[in-house]
This record gives sequence, structure tokens and C-alpha cells, in this order.
Amino acid sequence: KDFRNNVKPNWCPGCGDFSVQAAIQRAAANVGLEPEQLAVVSGIGCSGRISGYINSYGFHGIHGRSLPIAQGVKMANRDLTVIASGGDGDGFAIGMGHTIHAIRRNVDITYIVMDNQIYGLTKGQTSPRSATGFKTKSTPGGSVEQPISPMEMALTAGATFVAQSFSTDLKDLTALIEAGIKHKGFSLINVFSPCVTYNKVNTYDWFKENLTKLADIEDYDSSNREQAMQTLMKHNGLVTGLIYQNTERPSYQELLNGYSETPLATSDLQLDEAHFEKLVAEFM
Ligand code: SF4
Repeated sequence: KDFRNNVKPNWCPGCGDFSVQAAIQRAAANVGLEPEQLAVVSGIGCSGRISGYINSYGFHGIHGRSLPIAQGVKMANRDLTVIASGGDGDGFAIGMGHTIHAIRRNVDITYIVMDNQIYGLTKGQTSPRSATGFKTKSTPGGSVEQPISPMEMALTAGATFVAQSFSTDLKDLTALIEAGIKHKGFSLINVFSPCVTYNKVNTYDWFKENLTKLADIEDYDSSNREQAMQTLMKHNGLVTGLIYQNTERPSYQELLNGYSETPLATSDLQLDEAHFEKLVAEFM
């Protein structure tokens, strides 16, 4: 199983997204998938290119909309493993509404956010993850806004799988993506993925100095939601590892009454031309 293709990524040398790509490829192989069993859906941004760099089904969607597409793919073909991906601007600004509702809906997909705390593709503007005081072309005097705390937000939205990693921790990141794929429900994995070109504050060295591994916290229990929230607040969200997992709550598909035994993608819909024209007429 080889999830590499022959497309050369055009990310800047040193961009954290290279490791995320490698981790997805390794995780997919480790859980025993074949390329035709995986769909990677992405939004817009430097990170959005990732769907074209993996040997699988790929869909490069529009800004902030990877999650509606990914949920639709999964609902139509439950046999596919579906990974949605994007950046912090994509998922936590224009796409935030979709993120919150996908979390509470608990559709069985994995969402990987490449969090570089800036807009890279448009050459360096303040993002919803940028710290207060962060100076960019869009906030030359320093941002006066509070950054989004995505892990806390996910916990309050009812997430059943919340994890965070750092792009240089390839082994840990791969293991978390494997766990997310295996989780029966929505899994959110936020990855600190430095933008070496435009973010000169949140660098590799900055993350190394400021991140705490949950594995190093004595008695940390990832099934304890209250402890997860307290730990995130204590460390200002700068922790890596499996933050919280609830294996009890059923996924959206499991709760859906009348969800067909046969996936829509392989159902015989018996749509002849007359049916099709009637359907189209309803939307004219
Ligand atoms: Fe990566 Fe930043 Fe370059 Fe975009 S601009 S490819 S995020 S380093």
C-alpha cells in the first residue's frame, strides 16, 4: 500500500504541512487501508493542497467547506474512510459553523487542522488562531482580538475525540491519526504546523519551548472531560496528545433510524430519464 503519488508538493521548504502529509499516508497504511478505500477532502489555503498530494480519492473544495463535503461523502459511501483537512483560517474562521455542527453531529470522519496561526496562502495575515498582539500586514499595530481555543471549543460542542499534535512529532501524530480513523464518530486533530515563511513568532523552537505532552502529566485520563478542560485551561491550550475520547456515544450513522443497509453510492436508485427530469424541474 503506497499512499504517495507523483505530485511534488509546492509548499515552502520546512513547512509543517509536509509532516502532516507523511503522517496521513503512514496512518492510512498502518490501519490497512487501500488507496481506493480513502477519501481526503480539503478546503482552501496552503494546507488545502494536501488532497492532491495523497494517493487516494481527493476533493479540493472551497474555503471553509471541507466538512460539508466530507460528511456528504461519508453519508453516501460509508465504506470509505474519510479525512477532512484544512488550515486554522479555513476551519476556525469561515468554516467555524461547519466545524461546530460536525462535532456535535458526530459523523464518523476525521478532521485534521494544520494550525499555523496565520494565513499563509495570502501571504501572512492575522488568523483566528493568532495571539493577541500578533503583528501582520492586516494588524500592523498588533491584533487586539482573543484567539479561538479550538480544543476547548470542541469539548463544549460535545466532541467525542479531541487530540492535538506538533508536526515534528511524526510518530505521535501518525498514532493519533490512526486512532482518529478507528474512532467511531467525529475525530478532531489539531496539528501545530509552523509556517516558516510568514509566522516568525510561532516557530518550531517556540513550540518546542511551550508545548507540554499529556503523556508527561501524571494521572492524565483522556476519558475525563472535566480534567481535559482544566488541563487545557492551565496550559493555555498548548498540550499535545489524546486530550479526550468518549467511546460510549454512538456516531450519527448509528443513531439514524432507517439509514439504508446499502450505501447510496452503490444503491440501484432506478433513476430513469423521466425521474431525473422531474427531479431537476423541482429545482428550476
Ligand atoms: Fe507553508 Fe507558510 Fe509556505 Fe504556506 S506560506 S507553504 S503555510 S510555509
